[in-house]
Amino acid sequence: MQSVAVVGGGITGVTTAYALAQRGFSVTLFERHRYAAMDTSFANGGQLSASNAEVWTHWSTLVKGIKWMLKNDAPLLVNPKPTWHKISWFAEFMASMPQYRQNTIDTARLAIAARQHLFAWAEAEGVDFDARKEGILHIYRDKKGFDHAGSVSQLLAQGGLERRAVTPEEMRSIEPTLAGQYYGGYFTESDSTGDIHKFTQGMAAAAERLGVRCLWGSEVARVASDGQRATVTLRHTDQTTDHHFDALVVCAGVGSRALAAQLGDRVNIYPVKGYSITVNLLDEQSQRAAPTVSLLDDETKLVTSRLGTDRFRVAGTAECAP
Ligand SMILES: Cc1cc2nc3c(=O)[nH]c(=O)nc-3n(C[C@H](O)[C@H](O)[C@H](O)COP(=O)(O)OP(=O)(O)OC[C@H]3O[C@@H](n4cnc5c(N)ncnc54)[C@H](O)[C@@H]3O)c2cc1C
Repeated sequence: MQSVAVVGGGITGVTTAYALAQRGFSVTLFERHRYAAMDTSFANGGQLSASNAEVWTHWSTLVKGIKWMLKNDAPLLVNPKPTWHKISWFAEFMASMPQYRQNTIDTARLAIAARQHLFAWAEAEGVDFDARKEGILHIYRDKKGFDHAGSVSQLLAQGGLERRAVTPEEMRSIEPTLAGQYYGGYFTESDSTGDIHKFTQGMAAAAERLGVRCLWGSEVARVASDGQRATVTLRHTDQTTDHHFDALVVCAGVGSRALAAQLGDRVNIYPVKGYSITVNLLDEQSQRAAPTVSLLDDETKLVTSRLGTDRFRVAGTAECAP
């Protein structure tokens, strides 16, 4: 049996380990934290959104980004201090703008396939992750944002995703708790929400049942490959140990760039910081007052998600901080 090491126990590493074990590989997963999903996969926006597949590599994002540099409460913040990583990442960002249309179509396809796997695995393994299949509503305050969303919808449709334009009245009948004035919205019935942390923890337990060796609290110091075998070097308090495998998958989130570089691969992931808060809805009045349909405000880049009955999450802001 071929052996595979997976570095990283977020949603990507855990589902990769699970899928590899299902295909008959002998899998070992290394995660530096004591549990799965303690970094980016801890408390994200909760959206399972194919409708958010529009890639950001569009000139309008760049123009907005420059304007937002002058605003303290901007949804996208870029620290102007230059670093080699930041410059190379922005150069690649701009170089991929000509592929904006095709990348958006491909991302929509990928998102549709990903959510099919996600729900199929959760059902097969009995993972309860407070999912709600009530759709995602994109909201727009002006014609410009709404018209842009119309052209994005055409690309999403080419990727196989249906979403429909809705009037402010329809928006309020879809989500009666919605307040404020809007020009219009786009509603994607097939989208949903769920708790990424609960999902990943549940899938980690499922992977262990399939035979994956999950080594929690194991920090990978180095990775190497001689073209035949991969070596994972673990850092302990006063020593390191080497572990050998037939293959290696790096799923280390923002740590992937440095690890992949040790293998001669270029994975130009730039760390972007975001924020989320989770509100516990402890009584019936609070539960009735909070939206159940997930909302996405494209202008402020804020998302809301209902997690089960009694939690409501709000997430947003992208800070290219370092
Ligand atoms: C504020 C915010 C809101 C978001 N909202 C949404 C949303 O609504 N919907 C959506 O689909 N996506 C959303 N995202 C994005 C999504 O959460 C991430 O894409 C996803 O969690 C990334 O998972 P990952 O497994 O790739 O990385 P991570 O979850 O970061 O996992 C990487 C793991 O690798 C481990 N690791 C790193 N280096 C090492 C090492 N040397 N040794 C051992 N272990 C190591 C880390 O400890 C970590 O556990 C959001 C992100 C943010 C920040």
